[in-house]
Amino acid sequence: MFIIFVGKCFFMARPKNLRKIENPPPVKGFHPTGADSAEQLVIINLEEYESIRLCDFLSLSQEEAALKMGVSRPTLTRIYSIARKKVAEAFVTGIGIVFEGGKVYFDSDWYKCIRCSSLFNNFLHSESPHCSLCGSLEIRSYSDSI
Ligand SMILES: [Zn+2]
Repeated sequence: MFIIFVGKCFFMARPKNLRKIENPPPVKGFHPTGADSAEQLVIINLEEYESIRLCDFLSLSQEEAALKMGVSRPTLTRIYSIARKKVAEAFVTGIGIVFEGGKVYFDSDWYKCIRCSSLFNNFLHSESPHCSLCGSLEIRSYSDSI
């Protein structure tokens, strides 16, 4: 429980609920080609990324996307609106995008290969997961890199 001070009033704010993510972004972000400055970035958190993946890439309705993420439809609409605003800001102003942070959990174990940087899912819950692309055992949990 957090207490927020606004003027002379005190509000008790609930911590944000965790949102379910099926697939993490395959890259850490995007850099614009020909941009003057590569230092400016807009941060899209993982629940915002997931809302774009579900609504725009998979063409799900907002109701379907909300169910998949375990949030209400109004919450999904708010997350999705913020995400689209950030993408528009990056496109129009020519700044990069970074995928980072968010109050999320994954529906299964995701790993990143240290050797080849590929992402893979341990959907069989193997005791010794290895990279499905290069076979390396040098991996780390994707959740640790958020
Ligand atoms: Zn690999």
